[in-house]
Amino acid sequence: MGIICLLAASIAAAGPLTLATKDTVLTLSALPAEPRILSLAFPTGAVWKSEHPQHLIDKILIDGKWQPVRWSLKSVNDNRAGGSISFLYECSKPHLRLSWEWQARARTGPLEHTIRITNLENQVVALPMQSSFTFDWAVPSSKQLRYVWIEKGAGTPAPQGTHEAPLADGDGWEAASSTYARDGEPREPIPWTLVEETGGRQSGWYLGIEFSGRTHISLSRRGGSLAGEAGLEPHPAPFLTRLPAGGSFTTPTIFLGAFSDGIDGAGNILRRWVAQALLNPADLRDPAYPLLVSNSWGSGMDIDGEKARRMIEDAGKLGFEMFHLDAGWFRGVGDWYSHPHKFPLGVGSLADYAHSLGLKFGLWVDWTQAGIATEGGALSVHDPETRDWLTRDVAEDWKPEPFKGITIDIGYPPAAAWCSRELDRLVNDFHLDMLEHDGYLVAEGCLRNDHPHVACNGAPLGPEPWLEGPCSTDVSYHAARAYYRLYEQLRRRHPRLLLEACNDGGRMVDFGTAAHADYFSITDTYDPLSNRRAFYDASHVLPAPMLECYVERYPAARPAAFLYMLRSGMMGWCTIMQDTTTWDSQQRAAARQAFDLYKTRLRPLIRRADLYHISPRPDGIHWDGVEYFAASAQRAPLGPPLCTPFQRPHLARSGSVRHGADGFGAGGPSIAAPVLGTRLHSRASLAFGLEGSRVAATTGATDTTYS
Ligand SMILES: [Zn+2]
Repeated sequence: MGIICLLAASIAAAGPLTLATKDTVLTLSALPAEPRILSLAFPTGAVWKSEHPQHLIDKILIDGKWQPVRWSLKSVNDNRAGGSISFLYECSKPHLRLSWEWQARARTGPLEHTIRITNLENQVVALPMQSSFTFDWAVPSSKQLRYVWIEKGAGTPAPQGTHEAPLADGDGWEAASSTYARDGEPREPIPWTLVEETGGRQSGWYLGIEFSGRTHISLSRRGGSLAGEAGLEPHPAPFLTRLPAGGSFTTPTIFLGAFSDGIDGAGNILRRWVAQALLNPADLRDPAYPLLVSNSWGSGMDIDGEKARRMIEDAGKLGFEMFHLDAGWFRGVGDWYSHPHKFPLGVGSLADYAHSLGLKFGLWVDWTQAGIATEGGALSVHDPETRDWLTRDVAEDWKPEPFKGITIDIGYPPAAAWCSRELDRLVNDFHLDMLEHDGYLVAEGCLRNDHPHVACNGAPLGPEPWLEGPCSTDVSYHAARAYYRLYEQLRRRHPRLLLEACNDGGRMVDFGTAAHADYFSITDTYDPLSNRRAFYDASHVLPAPMLECYVERYPAARPAAFLYMLRSGMMGWCTIMQDTTTWDSQQRAAARQAFDLYKTRLRPLIRRADLYHISPRPDGIHWDGVEYFAASAQRAPLGPPLCTPFQRPHLARSGSVRHGADGFGAGGPSIAAPVLGTRLHSRASLAFGLEGSRVAATTGATDTTYS
C-alpha cells in the first residue's frame, strides 16, 4: 500500500489499521502524539481491548540536563501486504526520530514489534528506559484468567519449572531474565509469558522477548485493567543508554501472539513460528537435524587425543552423527590452541579423522574468557594491550578456573574485533562443523568508562562476577547486540556451521539466542530426571529439535535402567556425554537399537510434529511423558502408532497397551488416546519413570500389558 503520507509537517492521525496472521489479529492507531493498540484477538477466541497509549520516552539527557521530548506523528508506512506497519514520530527540539514498527514474518504465529530511536542532534545524548511494549487491556472483573511462565533449566531445574497460576484482581507477576541465572530463588524465566481465559477454549495471548541481555516482563491485574510491560530490565535504576550523534537505540524486539486450546495450543503455534522465523533455515533443510552426538565430557578435562580418537571410532560404530570435543583440549583459558602434550597431532587432525568416518566434528570454546597464558595468540588478563577489554581488573596473583576466566566486554568494538578473528580462526584451523560456546558471554557489569555503555563509576555495584548496578542493563544491551553481530558474521562466512548456545548450562535459553544459534544446552545437570524436567519446561515455547539434553553416565546395571537413561535424553537434540568405549556388549546392542529408533521414528516427529505435555511435569515419583502428534500422518499413515504407557492413574484408567520389542510399543490400543480425544493417528509418546522395577516394564521385551 505504500506510504500514506510523508510530509515535513505533522499529520493528524491514522487508523485503525489491522495487521494479522492466521491466529493473531492486532488493531493499531497512530495518534498525533503517540501510537495506540486498540485490540488483540484470536479469530475465533478471546478479544483483548485497549485504549492505552503506548509510552514513549518524554525526556532525554543532554550535557547533563534533562530536556523534555514531545513527539509528533510524521508518517505512517502501511505495508500490510508485505507484512509490516510502522509509525514515524519526530521531536524537533531536541531533534530525535522514533520508528514504531510491527511485522508479520510468517502467515501464522505472533507479530513482532520494535521501537527505534535515532539521535539527530549533533552531539551525544542519553536516553532513559524505553520499554519495548506496554499493555493495558480492559478486562471485566468477572473474567477468570490464569497466567503461565517457564523457568530456564539454568544449572539445575527446580522442582517446579512450569508455573501456572490464577490471575485474579490484585494478582501480578514480575520477573527479570539475564544470562546469569542463579539456581537460588527467585528463578529466572525464559523471557515469555502467557495469559488465558480459563474454561471454554482457553483462548488468550502470549508475549516473548527476542533478546539475551537483561530483560523484564510484568503483569498486574487491578479492577478492570490487566496491565504490564516487556523490554529491557529497568532495575537497578536509573537506566541510561548513550547515543552518539546519528546513532540509534533499538528496543529488544518482542513478539505478541494470540491462541486458543490452552498452553499446548499456544506452544504448537509458537514453536512452529520460532522454527520458521528465528531458527536458521538451513537446519530443517538437513534431514539429520537434530543430530545424534557423542561428547567427550564423559572423560572431563582428562580427555586427550588418543582417547578422543577411540571415542570417535566408537561413535562411528554406534551410529552417532557428530563427535563433540568438550573442554580439556586447549592450552589454557583464553589460549584456544591445541594442548601440545594431550593433542600432539592437533585438534584439526581429530576433526579430519571424524570426517573420514562420516561424522561431523564439534568443539567447545569459551571464547569470551581471558586467562593468564602468555603464548602468542592468547588473551591474557595481564596484557596491557587488551586489559581494557576486561569487565574489571584482577589481582596480580589471580588464576582462572580450569575452563573459565574473566569475561571480556564484547560490546567494546576492539574486543569484538578480536573475537571475530578468533572465531574465524577456530572454525578454519580445526575444521569445525559445530562450535559450542560456554561461560558468560554477555557482560552485565563492567567497570570501564571508555566502552559504548554508560559508565558505572560511582554507582554501587554488586559482587563479582556479576557487578550488578545501574549500568548493568546497558552493558548487557551492547554485549548482546555484539554477540548477535559476531554470530551473524560467522554464519555468513561459514553457512553450514552449527552453533550451540551453552552458558554454564541453560542460562541463555531465550528467543534472541534462538535467532542466532542452532540449538541450546538446556541445563547443566545431566541425570534423567533433570533432563526430562528441563525439556518439559523449555519445550512449551521452543522447538524440540533445538533443545539439547546431555546424557551423563547413570548407574545402569540393568538394561532397563540403561535405556531409561538414554531415552531421557532422546526427546529433542540428544548428546551422549559418556565414554561409550566402556559400554558392555549388551549396552551397545541396546544403544544401537535406541539410536536407530531415534533416527528413523522419533526424529521426524521431533522436527515437525506438534507436541503435547500430556502428564504433569516429571517429579521423580510418577510416570511422565510428552507426546508428539503429526496430523499429516492421518492422510499418510506411517505405520502402527508408536506409544508407550503412562502409569499415572488418571491416564492409565482406560485400556491396555501392548509393547513391542523396541519398548516403545508397536500398535494396539493406546492408553493415551482416550485422554487426548481425537488425536488417534501416528504419535510417539515418550514415557519415563523412576529407575526401578517399573522401568523394566516399559522397556521390557514384549507385550507388557497395563490396565
Ligand atoms: Zn564495558
